[in-house]
Amino acid sequence: MDNVRSDDPMLNERACETCGKVARLFVYSLPGIPMSVGNCKTCTEKCAYPYYIAEGNTNYCLDGIDNAADWWKESVTYKDGRYQTMAEAFGDV
Ligand SMILES: [Zn+2]
Repeated sequence: MDNVRSDDPMLNERACETCGKVARLFVYSLPGIPMSVGNCKTCTEKCAYPYYIAEGNTNYCLDGIDNAADWWKESVTYKDGRYQTMAEAFGDV
């Protein structure tokens, strides 16, 4: 690992945008959302959306969970300390 610099800011641990855990993050874009997020390994594996994105897309872009496609209702966010589907998080249960 001689080519990895310990002062490289890309290698620093930061707070996960979805669950808040301090970890090395994976930066990528999520389906349906044209922006990048920084998620920890667990949130990346769950394909979890940061809550502010989940809320913005559900309540403002879609005007409520009832208007969401099934794939969005089944997608995961992190709210109140646990992973939840959009349907759970936004009341369509
Ligand atoms: Zn996370």
